[in-house]
Amino acid sequence: MACVFCTNLDIRARMIIGSNKLAWAFPTNIPITEGHTLVVPVRCVGRFEELTEDERRALEELRYQITEALKSAFGAEGFNFAWNDGEVAGQSVPHLHLHIVPRKKGDTGIHNYDPRKFLYRTGDRPETPEEELSQVALRIKKALDLTSLSQDT
Ligand SMILES: [Zn+2]
Repeated sequence: MACVFCTNLDIRARMIIGSNKLAWAFPTNIPITEGHTLVVPVRCVGRFEELTEDERRALEELRYQITEALKSAFGAEGFNFAWNDGEVAGQSVPHLHLHIVPRKKGDTGIHNYDPRKFLYRTGDRPETPEEELSQVALRIKKALDLTSLSQDT
């Protein structure tokens, strides 16, 4: 079953692969705040319960690394983490994905509503141009490189 995460070449172009190769991340095309990133298992599964233990660990590792990168690349001070597990819970893409929404004091999100109240506001959200998303992905990648360098030393 081919889903948009697995087949969309624009998404593949901005993906950031985790060091253990089981998880990847990419900035979403409809961000709530700048730097809003999705962390997903490489394997196309829909539900959390379908993950292997290694995949769960990989997701958690990458989640941590991405939040550290978002702190340094976008000055994030806090985060909203969320996933919709199952269609009945509002899952729109059948490939499990964790939202990481970077937050700053006083922010109102890109679209001027408070994500603390409406993380999954229904209705259309404008898409960010691919070029801009590539820049966001690049900023996260650079920050990730810096983070892993500082961990090594
Ligand atoms: Zn998929």
